[in-house]
Amino acid sequence: MNIILLGPPGAGKGTQAERLVENHGLVQLSTGDMLRQAKASGTEMGKRVAEVMERGELVTDEIVVGLIEEKLTTSDAKGFIFDGFPRTLAQADALGALLEKTGQRLDAVIELKVDDKILVDRIVGRAEQARAAGQPVRADDNAETLNQRLEAYHAQTAPLIDYYAQKGALNSVDAMGDIDTIAGELSAIVKTATA
Ligand code: ADP
Repeated sequence: MNIILLGPPGAGKGTQAERLVENHGLVQLSTGDMLRQAKASGTEMGKRVAEVMERGELVTDEIVVGLIEEKLTTSDAKGFIFDGFPRTLAQADALGALLEKTGQRLDAVIELKVDDKILVDRIVGRAEQARAAGQPVRADDNAETLNQRLEAYHAQTAPLIDYYAQKGALNSVDAMGDIDTIAGELSAIVKTATA
């Protein structure tokens, strides 16, 4: 089973992916987490990637597709929740080709819809909470970088909404309510898509 979670930064993709892991036994693939691991590893690639992320821009399709390809071709999981991938039309095409190559299909794309104004408050709030609790704060969770991340989302990722709608795979969910309600809606979509 393969599910894509699509939505702007701060829409709750990571939180909802965790719920789907708990409730449906799916495996989460977060390109953001994979890239942060690359940064932490201190390799040349990791350093280059960190600079791009800290500017709030997108890492190249080549790097991200390479990371995903490695997971898809070496994992024995029966499917994934893609969290933060694809983020460009080229990545979406590459994912389609990879799934075909590995004999898998895309079961559903779920768009989490949230107004930009709420996203800024959520992310700045998340950073403040982490700081107050003495936890690490993501280098890109500040108001300035966030504006660039939102811009990248609208320019490069939002076109995927139409792309998947045309394929008849799109489900849109209002993601401004409470976490449990949204998780319930996502569960229902996953059940229907895989019934
Ligand atoms: P968010 O959705 O809150 O922005 P992520 O952890 O998904 O958080 O992504 C953080 C950053 O990692 C992005 O701003 C971008 O620089 C990089 N990134 C993550 N996924 C991709 C991707 N699929 N393509 C290009 N860059 C990506």
